[in-house]
Amino acid sequence: MNPRKPIYVTKPFLPPLEEFIPYLEQIWANRVLTNCGPFHAQLELALCEFLGVQHTALFSNATIALVVALQSLRITGEVITTPYSFVATSHALLWNGIKPVFVDINPNTLNLDPTKIEAAITPHTTAILPVHCYGHPCEVEAIQRIADTYNLRVIYDAAHAFGVQDASGSVLRHGDLSVVSFHATKVFNTFEGGAVVCPDGRAKARIDQLKNFGHAGETSVVATGINGKMSEFNAALGLLQLKHIDWALARRRERFLAYRERLGSVKGIRMLNDAGEKVANYAYAPILVEPPYPIGRDALYQELKDRGIHTRRYFYPLISEFPMYRGLPSSQPANLPVATAAAQRVLCLPIYPDLDMTTLEEIAGYIAHR
Ligand SMILES: *Cc1c(COP(=O)(O)O)cnc(C)c1O
Repeated sequence: MNPRKPIYVTKPFLPPLEEFIPYLEQIWANRVLTNCGPFHAQLELALCEFLGVQHTALFSNATIALVVALQSLRITGEVITTPYSFVATSHALLWNGIKPVFVDINPNTLNLDPTKIEAAITPHTTAILPVHCYGHPCEVEAIQRIADTYNLRVIYDAAHAFGVQDASGSVLRHGDLSVVSFHATKVFNTFEGGAVVCPDGRAKARIDQLKNFGHAGETSVVATGINGKMSEFNAALGLLQLKHIDWALARRRERFLAYRERLGSVKGIRMLNDAGEKVANYAYAPILVEPPYPIGRDALYQELKDRGIHTRRYFYPLISEFPMYRGLPSSQPANLPVATAAAQRVLCLPIYPDLDMTTLEEIAGYIAHR
């Protein structure tokens, strides 16, 4: 491959700058910069419509949204979660004084394995915090059955799952609450941002209070809230991004299918089953590098990097290996064999709407013929 500008795993999508100017003019004209102004209200409605959900509460980022979602349900004690995720999933538990209990993942989906959840339930367990990893839906029905049996709440970290559908609608309608991220690296971005998807207006009202210091009107504070509000600038960006999201998703799909065509039958390269064409958002292009592939994952990562292709090892290390988690009994590698193996094998390839096809073919060609 020729020397070139480095290729990263993602490149944030930005609509043409001139399309953003009218939004800025409106902000400058009416001087509403934040505190749930008109763009904030419009984006909440537009997202409900696009995603096919009842209520959304916008946030400054998904990490604060997760912290607040857990608070709003008054989750305490122990929460069952996956070690195979971005560290914010478990950090949201620690910020609430909750003990994470790690449960292993399913080797095909790399999502929390429902058959292993029951053995981890104790009298202190109050909730399950699964992740729709790479935007692939969890086994939501099996998880809900366990939650119903043991009277547990379910909060989905749906940071990767923007726009993902299952057979009967948005994947974000499952569980008690779902949290999506609009960070720059995600499928839909507001530079920084996120939202809690809520099934009913009461849940949203409580979350709206908590993200605004616990205020319930001008002179009354009813909860120890935090500042999690999304600004008008970010909300306006979201409204503009929504106009381009169908295009962006279609371009991702094309690129994902191109990888699959070129890598799908390479010995030792496993592509995760995308759960079907209608449902996926192609947020990531993960491969698992396994025997009999001629070299290990880290060697492939390094060789691509030497050629200016910056893949990412999402998710390595596991959350359970970080210093604030590794002392937990559930963090023992013997408890997490599938996640431990996946973390050693996974590589996420560059995928984004304007990744050019020639570059994609070079990347896939290098991997296929190594
Ligand atoms: C990105 C991400 C988050 C955090 O989102 P922010 O908006 O950056 O705070 C949480 N969980 C997962 C799985 C993520 O990928």
